[in-house]
Amino acid sequence: MSGLSKKRRAKLQQKLDEDYGYRQYADRDVEVREGACGHGVHAVRQFLPGELVIEICGQVLSQKKYDGSTYVMEMDDEWYLEPTIPGAYLNHSCNPNAELLKLTDSSMGIIAICNIEPGSEITFDYQWTAGDWVPRCQCGAPNCRGWVVGADSLEEMKEFAKEQKQKSKRKK
Ligand SMILES: [Zn+2]
Repeated sequence: MSGLSKKRRAKLQQKLDEDYGYRQYADRDVEVREGACGHGVHAVRQFLPGELVIEICGQVLSQKKYDGSTYVMEMDDEWYLEPTIPGAYLNHSCNPNAELLKLTDSSMGIIAICNIEPGSEITFDYQWTAGDWVPRCQCGAPNCRGWVVGADSLEEMKEFAKEQKQKSKRKK
């Protein structure tokens, strides 16, 4: 599993928009834990596929005026969400158990895409675009792409990495 297809995503978004009760959640359902690779968000109870795990609130900023931090989330083509905790501590995985969707005009939602057992870390696919600043991925999934980039950007990312390797060779 590596995130949802566009069609399934659109369907899930539609369900989310229609069903207000769907948005109910409690903060105590998740907790932030510090692990070997920094902070992560863990489930305290079980979540079923399609269930809202957390609503992520924060500051909504115009993409035209703001470059974004490493935590920033893209709400749509125009707006970023600079998330508060615990949202900011959600880690990337190439084999995620949740998906990030727009929930309201000022918040994003993390939706379970498979059964999430209590204690497991909640992750989603960041789907970053390729760039020379993109870090290596340490998610440990068997299908790990190697960098924290979307599947669409992987080829481009490999090119970036090749160029950088050549550059560093030239310096030596
Ligand atoms: Zn990975």
